[in-house]
Amino acid sequence: MKRRDFLKAAAGGAAVLCTGGAAQARENLQPAPQAVGMLFDSTLCVGCKACVSKCKEVNGMPPVIRDGQVQFDSASDLSGDTLNVIKIYKDGTAKVKDSEVDGFAFEKRSCMHCVNPGCVSVCPVTAMRRDPATGIVTYHADACIGCRNCTVGCPYNVPQFEYDNPFGQIQKCQMCNQAGVERIDNGQMTGCAEVCPTGATLFGTREALMEEAKRRLALKPGEIYNYPRGDLGKPYNSHEKAAPEYKQHVWGEKEAGGTNVLHISSIPFDKLGMPPLGERSAASIAEGVQHTLYSYLALPAVALAGLTYVVRRNTDDDGGES
Ligand code: SF4
Ligand code: SF4
Ligand code: SF4
Repeated sequence: MKRRDFLKAAAGGAAVLCTGGAAQARENLQPAPQAVGMLFDSTLCVGCKACVSKCKEVNGMPPVIRDGQVQFDSASDLSGDTLNVIKIYKDGTAKVKDSEVDGFAFEKRSCMHCVNPGCVSVCPVTAMRRDPATGIVTYHADACIGCRNCTVGCPYNVPQFEYDNPFGQIQKCQMCNQAGVERIDNGQMTGCAEVCPTGATLFGTREALMEEAKRRLALKPGEIYNYPRGDLGKPYNSHEKAAPEYKQHVWGEKEAGGTNVLHISSIPFDKLGMPPLGERSAASIAEGVQHTLYSYLALPAVALAGLTYVVRRNTDDDGGES
């Protein structure tokens, strides 16, 4: 290939790349029709960490060992053997529950089961998958090549790699519905919702949980409300309590295209450590552009043209045209 041929090929490729650059990002995906999820109400959480322990039990994960002692419920962050943690917000004297000033509050961290999951979008081999019926996002070790793209594609920093394991895999909450667990498929609720004594973690369909969240946000502070616990579809008990002053925000209704795990709180979510996210998911933008590029084979074409030119030039006895 002569230089002018290469330039022609490259120009053609560049034109296609430009087409790709102007490609329309796809729209955000909508929640799955039968999506299941959880509602975490920070104002109900008492920090007991029963959910942390139950999560370890359900997933067969080892307890945290500190100074030779088992610290079964004391993991401070997500890791290769902890899929759910309770974090604390504190301000000033930290004396008043759910007060932004001089108060404290609890926040649950586990996979949000995004409607437009970044981890799925960046995984090159479909080891991360979103169930189109339930919306649950699961990890499949048999397909994983260990690239760890998912750990950077997740806006919540959820997927964790087992660095201390020579055959390390990714670990994340799979809503208790991975091979060998399958609580949801068997009609059970998630382990963390089952043991939560206050209903701070509530299981149900995303639709019903969203309605429940909005009912709570509409309560007047001090108004008595009957809070269910367990599975919102079949709560086996509930308790009455005066409503707090909720922030008028259901986290996960819109953030980055929405999540199946929803949070409500009396503390602004940025103070609870949630990331700044717009409504558009990174997955919808990146996938739209990538798919356009690859549909025109722009990247392979340019790469092939360039490589061909270099190889030909380096192997041409006459040195080729310069
Ligand atoms: S079990 Fe419920 S109340 Fe206890 S820490 Fe977990 S979410 Fe909070
Ligand atoms: S929170 Fe992270 S790991 Fe969970 S579905 Fe969303 S992008 Fe994936
Ligand atoms: S849904 Fe299951 S895996 Fe996820 S945090 Fe709750 S108990 Fe753990």
